[in-house]
Amino acid sequence: MARYTDATCRLCRRERMKLMLKGDRCTTHKCAITKKRDVPGPVNRKMKQLSEFGVQMREKQKVKRIYGILERQFRKYFQEATRLRGVAGHNLLRLLELRLDNVVYRLGFAKSRAQARQFVSHGFIAINGRKMTIPSYKSKVGDKITLTPKGETVGFLREIVENMKSEYVPAWLELSSKEGAVVTLPIREHVEYQINEQLIIEYYSK
Ligand code: SF4
Repeated sequence: MARYTDATCRLCRRERMKLMLKGDRCTTHKCAITKKRDVPGPVNRKMKQLSEFGVQMREKQKVKRIYGILERQFRKYFQEATRLRGVAGHNLLRLLELRLDNVVYRLGFAKSRAQARQFVSHGFIAINGRKMTIPSYKSKVGDKITLTPKGETVGFLREIVENMKSEYVPAWLELSSKEGAVVTLPIREHVEYQINEQLIIEYYSK
């Protein structure tokens, strides 16, 4: 599968905000956003005023980067969001939040979505007692998320799990004694970033 391999912090600098892609480092003084405020690239690009299209594209890029998704898959989420009942922008964010790698991250099993994705694909995570290795798996209400026996053998993962705190878990998820659960579908207010999803819908609707 194709994936982004360039410097991660560059993505935050491009979007001019902390996308929290590197776990613990993001909350320290080492964060590149704290140190270098400029967007990467040549000076004339930094100075350019964005067009309406440019603003929409940046919003789309930002959300793709937050959830670690490439263009093709992101477009599929948009198509699914427009097919579902309700507001397309809210549907899109809900689909992204329900991805297993995001659920694993939001429960606190991993320090970043990238790490969560790795845990899932390495077979450390189980859904309802069965190993699940697909990071894009769409979680359902009632799903129980735990470590697999293989995950239990990983020392640093066990340590993370022992330190998980339910107060950091969003209201649509539940955490109790090393087990996470999806208790309801996420709503717009549960998304932890400032996102203007309408811009994304406009971008793809052209
Ligand atoms: Fe972004 Fe984290 Fe890098 Fe800061 S440390 S620039 S928040 S990925």
